[in-house]
Amino acid sequence: MTTDAGEQAFNNVRKLINDICERMNIPETCRIRLMECEREFTVHFPVRMDDGRAQVFTGFRVVHNDGRGPSKGGIRYHPDVNLDEVRALAALMSLKTAVVNIPYGGAKGAVICNPKAMSESELERLTRRYASEIAILMGPERDIPAPDVGTNPQVMAWIMDTYSMGKGYSVPAVVTGKPLEIGGSTGRFEATGRGCMVSVLLAAKRLGIDPQEATVVVQGCGNVGAITADLLAKKGCRLIAISDSRGGAYDPEGLNLADAFNHKKQTGSVIGSRNTEKVTNAELLELKCDILVVAALERALVKANAPCVKARIIVEGANAPTTPEADKILLDKGIFIVPDILANAGGVVVSYLEWVQGLQSFYWNEAQVNNYLDGLMTAAFDQVLCIAEEKKADMRAAACMIAVQRLAAAMTTRGIFP
Ligand code: NAD
Repeated sequence: MTTDAGEQAFNNVRKLINDICERMNIPETCRIRLMECEREFTVHFPVRMDDGRAQVFTGFRVVHNDGRGPSKGGIRYHPDVNLDEVRALAALMSLKTAVVNIPYGGAKGAVICNPKAMSESELERLTRRYASEIAILMGPERDIPAPDVGTNPQVMAWIMDTYSMGKGYSVPAVVTGKPLEIGGSTGRFEATGRGCMVSVLLAAKRLGIDPQEATVVVQGCGNVGAITADLLAKKGCRLIAISDSRGGAYDPEGLNLADAFNHKKQTGSVIGSRNTEKVTNAELLELKCDILVVAALERALVKANAPCVKARIIVEGANAPTTPEADKILLDKGIFIVPDILANAGGVVVSYLEWVQGLQSFYWNEAQVNNYLDGLMTAAFDQVLCIAEEKKADMRAAACMIAVQRLAAAMTTRGIFP
């Protein structure tokens, strides 16, 4: 994201929070606190590259609010990430953890780097140095990172190990999204996609759409997009298109997802997988379908393409994929939008379960994790829908109302130190 787009993204989240605070008569002391991030940490650190050179990287860790518990949020490795983008994502995490009512605040971290252009050993050295730089913020009771775009369970393992070495003993609960061998939770890898799948099915039910008859388009073929697509196909939906950063594969009769995923593994993209037509990402978003899942990056749906979206339901697997201008256009078209802070909360829900399991050294099986996740996502969706109907609001505003009210209640009850 460019610096300007990052600033815009943070302003958009601030405006969303501000508007909801005003609409709900939230105390002024809470409103002004929610407008800012509580802690912002920027680090510039050297990493020894494979060719012997030292390169300086810039990283961030931002805590938006920790009124409801330790702060929680992913770490992104991306060449275009910037501080304002991280602030926006941290604020969304505060809202997300509050909507699904888990005892966390919101945070986000990032390193400006291109992980695709780095070797495994360079990534390990970068991760370990970044982890030691932000270790003064981290801790199972303080701030708990997780994977995001460009990071994965292995990166979490390096962070956990680096933090543990500093302490002199193993601290599995300091990160979530870890590999199973070191205290990861069953179901965590699939959790965000599973939560999106639950959101799609609940939204379809609300609109009277039979999943067996529904056509689905998914933008993004990473952790969130690929798993959402796969789980929806297993529920009988017809997946007609899926894309990655290079473009998409389209088959109106229904994709063979296994073929598409294999093709991506072999060639780096879903484009050209067997019996599919190539579509650009711009074309994909405008395909005729019942359900569109946006699960790539921010700002997929903007003022220019929103009028051309033909889906009846949009589920935001990605964070902030819809700009406020686009949101208004899509709502005016009557499209039912399940917002990011609800739709993609499955990941942080199972992160919470992983953290609880780590603290108790008592591990659950996959069915227990999935049952908890499905129940919590369904309860949160129903609650948001109920407020949306009661207040005649859209789902984003309703989710934000619930979140802001919970955040304000915690801040008011705790008061201001000293
Ligand atoms: P990922 O890196 O695994 O996958 C991202 C996918 O998006 C890749 O397939 C990539 O090729 C594709 N992509 C990138 N740019 C694109 C573009 N311009 N057009 C189309 N596709 C493009 O990342 P992820 O973990 O799946 O995260 C995706 C989104 O979901 C992000 O916004 C992330 O913040 C959000 N999210 C992720 C999680 C999680 O648990 N992984 C949880 C909540 C939210």
